[in-house]
Amino acid sequence: MKSNLEAFELFKGTLPKEVSLIAVSKTNPADVIKELYDAGHRDFGENKVQEVCEKYEHLPKDIQWHFIGHLQRNKVKYIAPFVALIHSVDSERLLVEINKRGEQNDRIIPCLLQLHIAREEHKFGLDQEELSIIIDKVRSGDFPYVRVKGLMGMASNTNDVKKIKVEFQGLKKLYDHYRRSYNDGETTFNTLSMGMTGDYQIAIEAGSNMLRIGSLIFGSRQ
Ligand SMILES: *Cc1c(COP(=O)(O)O)cnc(C)c1O
Repeated sequence: MKSNLEAFELFKGTLPKEVSLIAVSKTNPADVIKELYDAGHRDFGENKVQEVCEKYEHLPKDIQWHFIGHLQRNKVKYIAPFVALIHSVDSERLLVEINKRGEQNDRIIPCLLQLHIAREEHKFGLDQEELSIIIDKVRSGDFPYVRVKGLMGMASNTNDVKKIKVEFQGLKKLYDHYRRSYNDGETTFNTLSMGMTGDYQIAIEAGSNMLRIGSLIFGSRQ
């Protein structure tokens, strides 16, 4: 059987250079993360506030913790001091709270706006109109302690490759639209987080530049 590290390095070797890889370590213990850390990897993804806080406590402080799960407003305060990127901003009220906690911690918190691209599935994510309203407010300076770095989306959980492709391509189109109009000199809006173990190839073809990969590296979760 391949070790996690072997699986990780084999997989990483197949990726185009411009695609970054978040190792989704949720449910895996600290020593499993440490193995990848010791081999030089720094970006890990978690979807539970309590779990990421415990791992942050016990693991090296230069790990970049990506928060990828649904985030409740009353829990933002726990991750605000250290989180590297929140992928899952799915409401304006959540962004207001992140901005407030950023100010309290005297740091600008990097975020992605999560789009609801799988129409019949998944509860969370913004629609296009909500996205447009939020981006306008971000641009007019309403959220000085937040940096919107790009977009995130999860495709339908299906074997229908065509359907997944359409969903990812739709997200890429939105991303390109905002990337063109957003960047006034600075290229801070540069991240498109899409693709997991089951659909990463389709995501890369559609233009993803950040993958969130769990089971392919760590094996299937219980
Ligand atoms: C768990 C999770 C992943 C990784 O899923 P795998 O199928 O194990 O690669 C990616 N994104 C989100 C939001 C997740 O919750």
